[in-house]
Order: sequence, then structure tokens, then C-alpha cells
Amino acid sequence: MKVKIYTGILKRIIFGRSIKKMNFHFQKDESGKYYRKHYDDDDKEGIREIKKYCRRRLLRCTLNDDSMERSTTYRANFFKSDKGIFGGGKYYFCAYCGRILTKSKATVDHIIPIALANRSPRHKRMLTIRGIKTVNDVRNLTASCLKCNSRKGSSGGLWIVRGYFGKSWIRVMLKEIILLLIGGIALYYLCNFLYNTGLYEFLLEK
Ligand SMILES: [Zn+2]
Repeated sequence: MKVKIYTGILKRIIFGRSIKKMNFHFQKDESGKYYRKHYDDDDKEGIREIKKYCRRRLLRCTLNDDSMERSTTYRANFFKSDKGIFGGGKYYFCAYCGRILTKSKATVDHIIPIALANRSPRHKRMLTIRGIKTVNDVRNLTASCLKCNSRKGSSGGLWIVRGYFGKSWIRVMLKEIILLLIGGIALYYLCNFLYNTGLYEFLLEK
């Protein structure tokens, strides 16, 4: 269990030293600036104490499951289990825009973002319903281009639907083929229409 204590500048000046005395370390990442410390899951007493400490000083603290933290091996695990287009392990589709990426250019995206899984019980439930115990489970990972990955950030909603849909290269390929066919048919009918109505010659004269 990871305990994070968030403070503004003022509270950091006032309580920073006493928080550090309890072996908390100051850290800064995408979720903000905070103090963190690891507690054993069965250290109920310690966790209760720190919660009381924060409540009394009006400090915001969160308890984060270890399973809801970014692991160091998720990228390697993803590539081990997902071999990409035609199973060759060289090329991947971006789940969001359908761009073809080489393995080295592909980023690995958490479909349900870590920040969301931590702060929203609904998103955590979305994982547990599917039997996923940690955000780093390969079922919650997909290949993505850097641009889409950074645009997505910690967003949920439609991004999650697109992530799960685009996770399978077969689905992405089918989608691209269907779009291409629809585009082709539309173009055919447009040309036919222009030709039959004589608009075609009119446009040519112009
Ligand atoms: Zn993309």
C-alpha cells in the first residue's frame, strides 16, 4: 500500500519536516507534488495513524494499491504477449489513430489510465469486473503512437472504448478496409452523379 500526502506550498513549509520525520519521501510526477511512503498491507495500525494525522491537519492523503502503480516491466510484458500485425512482433497499429508503427516507435498505453484507476472507483471496477487485478495487466495495455498517447493523457470516456477496440490489430485492419470501401463506393457514386447530371462537363469547362 502506498500512502501519498498532498500539500500546497504553505502546508509543505509547516508540516514538511514532520512528514519527512515519518520517513516519507517528497516526489513530483504527473499527478502533482506529494510525499510518499510504502506501508505493508497488514500494517493497519500505521495506516490508521497516518490517516488520523492527515485528517487533523487537513492534509489530503490517498492510499494507493500497489497493483494500481506503474510497473517497470509493463512495456516488456506487453511486447512479450502481443506480437502485433500478423504476429510478426515488428509492426503495431496505434489503437487510436490506426497509424502503423515499428516496435521501437510504439509506446505502450494503459487503456484505463493509472491516475483514473487510482482516483475513480468506477474505473477500478471496470478493471475488476474483467478479472484484471493490476493496471499493468496486458489486457489493459495497448500499442499507441506518441502523439495519441500524450493527447489521451489521463482521459477516460471514449478513449477507453477506442483503446479496447483498437487493441486488436485484426479489428483495426478490418476498420481501415471498411472505411476504404465506403470511401471508394461514395467516390464512385459521386462521379456517377456528376457524370449523369452533366455537372462533370460543367466543372471541366470551368
Ligand atoms: Zn495514434
